[in-house]
Amino acid sequence: MTNLVKEKIREMKDWLVEVRRAIHMNPELGFEEVETSKLIVEWLEKFGLQVTKGVAKTGVVGLLQGNKRGKTVAIRADMDALPLEETNQRPYRSRIKGKMHACGHDAHVTILLGVARLFSAIRGQVKGNIKWIFQPAEEGGGGGRIMVEEGVLEDPNVDAVFAGHMFPDLRIGKIGIYEREGLAASDRFMIKMLGKGGHGAYPYLSKDPIHAAGHLITQINSIVSRSINPLDSAVVTIGKVTGGTAFNIIPDEVELLGTVRSLNTRVREMLKFRLEKVTQGVARSFEMDCQFDYQYGYPALVNNPEMSQLVASACTRGVGQDNVEFLRPSMGGEDFAYYLEKIPGAYFRLGCRNEEKGIVNPLHSSQFDIDEDVLPLGVEMFTRIIDQYLGLELF
Ligand SMILES: [Zn+2]
Ligand SMILES: [Zn+2]
Repeated sequence: MTNLVKEKIREMKDWLVEVRRAIHMNPELGFEEVETSKLIVEWLEKFGLQVTKGVAKTGVVGLLQGNKRGKTVAIRADMDALPLEETNQRPYRSRIKGKMHACGHDAHVTILLGVARLFSAIRGQVKGNIKWIFQPAEEGGGGGRIMVEEGVLEDPNVDAVFAGHMFPDLRIGKIGIYEREGLAASDRFMIKMLGKGGHGAYPYLSKDPIHAAGHLITQINSIVSRSINPLDSAVVTIGKVTGGTAFNIIPDEVELLGTVRSLNTRVREMLKFRLEKVTQGVARSFEMDCQFDYQYGYPALVNNPEMSQLVASACTRGVGQDNVEFLRPSMGGEDFAYYLEKIPGAYFRLGCRNEEKGIVNPLHSSQFDIDEDVLPLGVEMFTRIIDQYLGLELF
């Protein structure tokens, strides 16, 4: 059966590809998405939405108020690129040196614009309100937190919020969804072992921070295995160790930097507590001082199970049951978590891998690309989610 909405989405395929490539060729880093933001504003105004610019610096919010009263649903895209040189040789590759859309945020923006275009054409059928959230700086800048602080979930109050993300682990046409926990709280720590430097030949006259750091690394790696319930998930990784200048000098200090991942607050607090205790304990055992600094990053991303079911059922109607799967959480991070801390919603994955077209590279790779068939598919999936949430019966 041909359906008006499906027909309209099919018609906009070339336009979606054009928009995506324009954004892809001009990637901008977090909080610098000036041109991307302008492009979004231009289209949203053309579609006749109420537009708010300059939210969280470069963020944009669009609003469509239906003729009939109903709930308010929001959809969100991130706009930022990564500091990475694209090595693809495609005609639409990045034109900006050292910057690249390697996480698919160009596609996220495009899909949301496609949804805006669609609903502007059928606005008479909208019951309730639809809000479009284009946020800056997902890649570490926490743009989502600032958008929430600046009130994007208010006026009108948003009842549910949804976001999708490119996912090269899944083939094009497939949708992945997290039932509850989807991504991890991602925190970081800095530890300094403060010893006393000296000649490498006379260690008994020094306090060797490298020796202490060696013990500390081993101790830290026992936290997850000995202090965390094996049925919970946790990661502690030390990613950088700095200390020393020459083979025969004991340095004054050693610095360790690391990341901590968890899926709930209980585990998160336990990891922080144990890291600090272990650091202090090791330092004491070597009679040296230490510094411990822990920085909270994005919270864990936790979907509302009812909203996950809604996404699964809406997408199933579009792509069939065989193409919708529930995914295990992963220990990456995502600042959509800040929205989900405030209101119910769900975060899902759009498969964008296609072996036949050679599109197989992971997110954040300099060779990342998407099968552009995901653009109209993404528009359809978001439209179905909105349709089902607001009870519009468009399909
Ligand atoms: Zn990313
Ligand atoms: Zn991303």
